[in-house]
Amino acid sequence: MASEKDAALAAVPSDSPTIFDKIIKKEIPANIVYEDDKVLAFRDIAPQAPVHIVIIPKVKDGLTGISKAEEKHYEILGRLLYTSKLVAKQEGLEDGFRLVINDGPKGCQSVYHLHIHLLGGRQMNWPPG
Ligand code: 5GP
Repeated sequence: MASEKDAALAAVPSDSPTIFDKIIKKEIPANIVYEDDKVLAFRDIAPQAPVHIVIIPKVKDGLTGISKAEEKHYEILGRLLYTSKLVAKQEGLEDGFRLVINDGPKGCQSVYHLHIHLLGGRQMNWPPG
């Protein structure tokens, strides 16, 4: 099976629909842990920690990644961060957790629909790989 890095290097940055659109439309199953009118959070299919949740905007609006953020995205970016905190609490991560946004090939991004990774349930290390 290809590594996450292989998947990231093979991914073509584009604004085309991604697998996350299918999850948003419930066309493919996902373990959804939080949903409101703007934000969806679901368990990562290849978890890198006991808790690994992906938090995404339901409408991409050009946000293929954080490097494409514009002023018009202020509100959704804030909502995504605030939702990350809510989900961390919901998951019982009182002792700490990590939020990650991968961007572009060198940032190891494989899905071009902005997402925050919420990782927890184990001791994290620094620096990350
Ligand atoms: P990225 O590498 O772009 O930062 O993160 C994309 C994440 O989406 C990866 O951690 C990957 O495991 C996850 N992912 C990719 N496809 C699916 C899927 O179909 N379902 C779920 N739940 N996660 C997925």
